Amino acid sequence: MNSGDESTGAMRAVADRGACCGYGVCAEICPEVFKLDEAGLVYVEDDIVPAELVERAKEGSEACPQVALQIVPLEG
Ligand code: SF4
Repeated sequence: MNSGDESTGAMRAVADRGACCGYGVCAEICPEVFKLDEAGLVYVEDDIVPAELVERAKEGSEACPQVALQIVPLEG
């Protein structure tokens, strides 16, 4: 049995809420990953980004005017 997940292509989304200004660009591009709370600040419900959403999540993170979002490799 293979217990590793390396082949899935999944990534992790990291949001710096302190940097977020609530423009909502990320949530428009990739609402499956980036959500806005009632204060209008970004959060990620589940920081694991499945492989099929990685491209769009990266687009969303790159579109952030505050550079508050990162898509990073899963660790461990
Ligand atoms: S695009 Fe950036 S500043 Fe705008 S809501 Fe998303 S994280 Fe916040």
